[in-house]
Parts: sequence; structure tokens; C-alpha cells
Amino acid sequence: MSFKPKERRAAKARVAMAKAKLDALLVTDIKNIRYLTGFTGSSAYLVLTPSRVYFLTDSRYAAQSGAEVKGADIEVRICAKAVEEIHGILTGPRVGDRIGFEPDNLTYEAYLRFKKGFGNKRFIPSGGIIKTARAVKDAIELTAIKDSVGALDAGFEAARGLIAPGRKESDVAFEIEVGFKKAGADGPAFDTIIASGPRSALPHGKAGQRKMRKGELVVVDMGVLLNGYNSDETRTYCLGRPTRRQRNIYDTVAAAQEAAIKAIRPGATAKDVDAAARAYITDAGYGEYFGHGTGHGVGLDVHERPVLSPHSKDILTQGMVVTVEPGIYIPGWGGVRIEDMVLVTADGFEALTNAAKGLEDLR
Ligand code: ZN
Ligand code: ZN
Repeated sequence: MSFKPKERRAAKARVAMAKAKLDALLVTDIKNIRYLTGFTGSSAYLVLTPSRVYFLTDSRYAAQSGAEVKGADIEVRICAKAVEEIHGILTGPRVGDRIGFEPDNLTYEAYLRFKKGFGNKRFIPSGGIIKTARAVKDAIELTAIKDSVGALDAGFEAARGLIAPGRKESDVAFEIEVGFKKAGADGPAFDTIIASGPRSALPHGKAGQRKMRKGELVVVDMGVLLNGYNSDETRTYCLGRPTRRQRNIYDTVAAAQEAAIKAIRPGATAKDVDAAARAYITDAGYGEYFGHGTGHGVGLDVHERPVLSPHSKDILTQGMVVTVEPGIYIPGWGGVRIEDMVLVTADGFEALTNAAKGLEDLR
């Protein structure tokens, strides 16, 4: 029962392979391999052909792959020399000449080794085949993502009690991360960002040695990795009563985020969702202080397809999970970012993240 979704995932990848006229795809991205087989180990290769999935790993993972990698068309091979084994598969009678590979997950050295002695075979960069399939989540993935979000929302609830004037950013981050582990998570999805005062103007200001002070903005951007799936959410708090400027900038980001979320539905272009947030911030006079894209897909990777940015060519479809995270960052003064995860549904969107929002008066 458990492997049916994996067969559907392979089928989805095969449709894309056929469109690209590939006879086989060499998969080297370990998360793509997990997606297709359920393997949670850290070293394996996979060859996808129109009729079979060849999964190759070494003896260290024999027992684990035996337990995890199952499926009607999956052939598990435990081997010491994977490259030679893959040569054997790709030069076999049933495999044609056009071999796709994943250029962002194959070193140049490994590429040369794979290519050696292949005569007429053509190696075609095909990094998007599995990654595009992964952008649309199935029911099992959505459950895993919602579990990850649940642990993350609890972390934000804890954060509200831990953030206070005089406390060190890194101490608060540590306590929150211990909570993630206690909730059964593998750990944080990325270095927890707690950026206070002027540091809140750094979009990726991971928690440092700084002590938070009264009256400051604090940007908290965290994620949880649970059962292989990531979550990603940001809140901005104020330590004390916000000034008029802090309030104004916060309200601008909040309204920009709302505008972008409302633009989410199947068929919407990622570019238009980005534009909805960007136009609001630009009209308010802060356009030059919003330098990054509005969002990204989340799943087995924290950042995956689709990309919500001015240059994106992605189109939203039902089942995609994306972040919406506009921000305003004023060097030397501080910044505000608000980030939520949203599922694209049949007729619009469903908010996944639920941590309390608002420029609360944390003391
Ligand atoms: Zn984030
Ligand atoms: Zn993000």
C-alpha cells in the first residue's frame, strides 16, 4: 500500500522524460531518490527508464534499502562499484541513446567517469525532470508538511515567551531548537534566524551573540525538518510599544503579503503573485528596500520549485506549496518580514502556517 504513491511519482517523471525524449534518467540528487523510492539514507544512485527503476547503493545500506525501497518496478542492486553497474544498465539492450543527468548534483569528475566508454550515447542535462514533478505535492507529502508546520507553529508559540529585552539571540534560538527536537523533529530546517534591532535589516541574519533591547524589532525566521519534509515561517515582533515608523512599515508588509496570498490560485503566474506584493510595497515608497523574491516552494528542500519572483516563468497549479514572504529592510534601522506557507487548492489557497501574527507588544 505504501509504495503506490511512489509509483505515481515515477509515472509523473516518465511523462516529463518522454517529452524531453530521454531514454533514461540518471538521478544523483539524494532527495530526488528519496522522492522516487522512499530511501532515507545518504548515498545512492538511481536510473529511471520507461519501464524500470534501478536503485543502487552499497553494502552499508543493504538492510535499510531492503526495508524502505519497495515497488513493483524497482530493482535494488547492492554493489561496490556503482558507476560500472550503471554502465551495465545503460548499455543494456533496452536502453536508447539519450541519457538525462542532473547537472547540479553531479561533479564534473563523476560526469567524466559516467561518460567514459559510452561511444554513441548522448548525455543531456535534465535537472528539472524530478524537481518539476516534486513541485506538486501528493497527499502523503502534504501530511508530512503539515506535521512539520505543526512543530514549527509550536516553536513560534515558545518564541513569544522567550524573546525579551536582555536575552541573547543565540540563547533563544537554542531553546527553540531543543523544542523542535523534543517534538520529534530531525532538527531545524536551516540556521534559525533571530535578528534584532539593526540586524533585523539583514534578510538572513542568523541568531548571533547580540542581546535584544527594548523598543527593537525582532525578525524570527525558522523552519523544522520532520520526516524529511521542511517548513518555513517568519514573524516580526516588537519589544515594547512600536513607534509610528515601525507600525507603518509592519502594516505595509502585512498588507503586501495579504495582496500576494489573495492572488494565489491555480493558473496564476508566480510572477503575478510576486508583483502583487511588490506593487504594494513600491506604492508605499519602500520598493528599493525589498530586494528578494516573494516566495518559493517548500518540500524535501527548504527552497524548491516554484520560484515566486519577478523573473519566474512558473505557473501555480493545485498541490503546490509555496511561501509568501515580502519584507522591507532599511540598512542601519531595521527590517520587517512576514512569511507564511500556502497550499494552492482547486479554487484558490489554504494557509498552512498559523503562528500568531501582529506586531505584538512583547515585553
Ligand atoms: Zn523563511
Ligand atoms: Zn522562505
